[in-house]
Amino acid sequence: HMPTSELQALDCAHHMHPFSNQHELSERGARIITRAKGVTLTDSDGNEILDAMAGLWCVNIGYGRDELADVAARQMRELPYYNTFFMTTHVPAIALSAKLAELAPGDLNHVFFAGSGSEANDTNIRMVRHYWSAKGKPNKSVIISRKNAYHGSTLGGASLGGMVPMHQQGGLPIPDVYHIGQPNWWTEGGDMSPNEFGLSRAQGLEHAILELGEDRVAAFIAEPIQGAGGVILPPESYFPEIQRICDKYDILLIADEVICGFGRTGNWFGSQTVGWTPHIMTIAKGLSSGYAPIGGSIVCDEVANVVGSTEFNHGYTYSGHPVASAVALENLRIMEEENVIGHVQDVAGPHLKQKWEALSDHPLVGEAKIVGMMGSIALTPDKSTRAPFAATAGTVGLICREFCFANNLVMRHVGDRMIIAPPLVIQPDEIDVLVNRARRALDQTLLEIKA
Ligand code: PLP
Repeated sequence: HMPTSELQALDCAHHMHPFSNQHELSERGARIITRAKGVTLTDSDGNEILDAMAGLWCVNIGYGRDELADVAARQMRELPYYNTFFMTTHVPAIALSAKLAELAPGDLNHVFFAGSGSEANDTNIRMVRHYWSAKGKPNKSVIISRKNAYHGSTLGGASLGGMVPMHQQGGLPIPDVYHIGQPNWWTEGGDMSPNEFGLSRAQGLEHAILELGEDRVAAFIAEPIQGAGGVILPPESYFPEIQRICDKYDILLIADEVICGFGRTGNWFGSQTVGWTPHIMTIAKGLSSGYAPIGGSIVCDEVANVVGSTEFNHGYTYSGHPVASAVALENLRIMEEENVIGHVQDVAGPHLKQKWEALSDHPLVGEAKIVGMMGSIALTPDKSTRAPFAATAGTVGLICREFCFANNLVMRHVGDRMIIAPPLVIQPDEIDVLVNRARRALDQTLLEIKA
């Protein structure tokens, strides 16, 4: 029960924050969240804030569900920890892997657990390379990813990611990772129609394969909808062409479902929404609604059979952690019992879409896009030319984010794009509050940049 200022001083003195500027923190102090219920956070000064980002895109069933706390406590008493190495296992990992195999499409029937999405993507790098080696093609080691993608913060995850500032710190990417252009029509589409541009960006994959040599390319990885890169919805032409190219050159497809999985796009998995069939899916975040750290790779029969034919020298102490697995299982049970995906499809999704897209009448807003519970708006000084705020890229987004905070709304910015990903259980009246606060923040931003 220390006062906020004392907590902030302690935090700043000892806590190194991810993706934060520590000097800036010392000047303004971190916002301290103390409690949360439903879609609402409470901070240490008692402010009630609508969380339009579901934490970090993860609290899909909302905050404060006692069922998950009860399951965690029960599992901690019964079996708080055991590993899944060396041919041992336990009931929560068995039950969760079987449940995921049931939910995942096609023959994605096998799960390799990790503690996070980053770790799962590291698993994927090693798994696809091991797969091709075991098939007698050790030269197939290159993984193609996309510029501006986010696949995590480990060396492997950050290498797969296409974030230049991350590569600059630590000498990334690791060898044999290659990045192609993203299907971001708004900023890069020029005079092409969205579908022409989507097709041409997908064909960039074919060019890369031919340049690198098809006998060297092991896999292609993509988020169905690029999240941390700015919620970039791909044109409809994009993924069918990607699928065709990967099939043609015998390349494994990895869908990074860390954000898009577990209902966020209105289906269990984002790859179902955009219409492609991966061999491997990376999962985390919504798997446990963020209540426990857990991630994994869901793998198709063929890859699992080949990888399993010899010992795969890979694993994490917390692979299939019993408490995290039990919590994830309970989260999935609640999602099914309460038909959370139906709520996204029929209630919250259509309501949010209508309100969100209406923001495009605001003078600062260019495109306003949304799928399911994942949306973005592009801020622009000129809608007709899709112009960026050239000299100050990112600044206007930052100003807008600060006004959102001031209006008790958590919305994130990526450059001059504002993004949302609220808990999937958000109700229509809460959506109205969200969008009203966003509009007020946009008005205040406009006044500020005109001043
Ligand atoms: N992949 C995607 C698409 C993500 O958005 C993230 C995190 O935001 C990750 C991977 C990394 O997951 P984690 O932070 O659990 O390591």
